[in-house]
Amino acid sequence: MTEVIKRLKAIVGDRFVSAEPEERYLYSMDQGTMPPAEPDMVVMPGSTEEVSEIMRLANEYQVPVVPMGGGLVLSGLTRALKGGMILDMKRMNRITEVNPKSRYAVVEGGTSQGMLQAYLKKHHPELKHSMPDAPPIATLAGNVCIHGSGHLSVLGGFHSDMLTGMEVVLPTGEIVRTGSCSVSADWFGKAPLPDLSGLFMGWSGTTGIVTRLGIKLFPNYRHNDLLIFVTEDPRDMPDVIARLTSTQVAEDMTPWMTPKPEWARGFMHINIAYGAHSKEELTFKRNLLQISVKDYIDNKSGGFLPMPPPQKGRFMQLPSPDLARFADVRKGGGFEYVGAIMAIEHFPEAYQAGVRIAEKHDVSYSMGARIVGAGHAMMFFYAYAFNRADPEDMARAQHALEETNSAALDMGGIPWKAELPAQQKIIEKMAPETFALMNRIRHTLDPNHIMNPGNWERA
Ligand SMILES: Cc1cc2nc3c(=O)[nH]c(=O)nc-3n(C[C@H](O)[C@H](O)[C@H](O)COP(=O)(O)OP(=O)(O)OC[C@H]3O[C@@H](n4cnc5c(N)ncnc54)[C@H](O)[C@@H]3O)c2cc1C
Repeated sequence: MTEVIKRLKAIVGDRFVSAEPEERYLYSMDQGTMPPAEPDMVVMPGSTEEVSEIMRLANEYQVPVVPMGGGLVLSGLTRALKGGMILDMKRMNRITEVNPKSRYAVVEGGTSQGMLQAYLKKHHPELKHSMPDAPPIATLAGNVCIHGSGHLSVLGGFHSDMLTGMEVVLPTGEIVRTGSCSVSADWFGKAPLPDLSGLFMGWSGTTGIVTRLGIKLFPNYRHNDLLIFVTEDPRDMPDVIARLTSTQVAEDMTPWMTPKPEWARGFMHINIAYGAHSKEELTFKRNLLQISVKDYIDNKSGGFLPMPPPQKGRFMQLPSPDLARFADVRKGGGFEYVGAIMAIEHFPEAYQAGVRIAEKHDVSYSMGARIVGAGHAMMFFYAYAFNRADPEDMARAQHALEETNSAALDMGGIPWKAELPAQQKIIEKMAPETFALMNRIRHTLDPNHIMNPGNWERA
């Protein structure tokens, strides 16, 4: 390893390589329940060419490479399961282009959500991108790579649907482009070419390193508002969601259910965020949303929650501070949530499974969902907080998570950003031909099997 470290220093500079125990410890874990796995070294490249050189070196010495953005995935996907190096992308954080007319931005692979948000606010206040509720240091590349979603997902789908193109360093070191930028100077989209971005989305960093990506931007409205619809009956939720999304007015819809505070217990809430260029347009859109669920209001099985402006403002913050606050409810810095992507009609059983599992394992929970597209799917999440310093508390959360993953698969959902045990469950259920194809693709791209090994493999 000494020779590898020496050559890495020659590529990126002394300051950006470390094999010190402190760094190896810090990079061995995330806040989730997966056990730590120490890398042998951490390297921070500053350019695509450096990433390419690092990959060639890693192949020469057969050293595993784990790409990492913010390291906030929570399901342990940036741990070095087989040792080797963590490739921390945070230095590559330049925003290289904003196209205000075709509405896209091109950013480097380590650019954080907060950086793009701040840049647009300053230079293009008429534009915005879809922010996840993750802490702002989370990267766009890390999020797109795991099919993340955010506050414009009703409008634009998963963040991988908002991808317009990529520059990727392959496991063997070649630099490739996908989408229009492979033919043209413009990064407008994936059509009409074969969609090669699928080789890198959802693979947990096992097929390449995204060094640049194009992402869609959307109009930033001057007037924004939020409605909260409430009902007691989870069985109403699929129809309520279908009605609200059929108006095609909302930018974001996030149902949430929590036993605390007491006033929220037992109720299904749906936050509906929407915006407009003028006050008249805002009123028109609010009316459309309200009329869509009028039947529920008339028969008194649902209604809109009146909210004083300060409380409303809090709900409209991007990213939302509430999930991060809940994450520390047990103190001790442990938090993980399992999200399963599933069809909307499974909402009632998804909710009931969550309540049952949390009670059985005696864990603090909050549940919610993000509606993706015009009601085309949802990411239903179960968040469990635990105290990392209390092994029993952590074990309880882990068991609850595992049971939740099984329940999600049983009802036809698929665990999102699956941690290792959940990956195994998915592989077991996946059509064998599909898994064989995944392996063939992976072997072709990564013949020495050095990219984030241990992930998407049969145990
Ligand atoms: C409080 C809280 C709220 C959250 N809310 C949301 C939410 O609303 N929506 C949402 O989608 N997520 C959410 N998350 C989950 C997660 O934090 C985000 O998805 C985050 O954007 C992941 O990005 P990251 O940079 O931290 O990725 P990382 O954790 O660094 O990496 C994720 C995966 O992508 C791979 N990867 C990272 N960078 C690259 C690259 N450049 N090339 C190739 N592979 C790469 C890694 O190997 C890993 O497999 C939340 C997390 C927390 C803690």
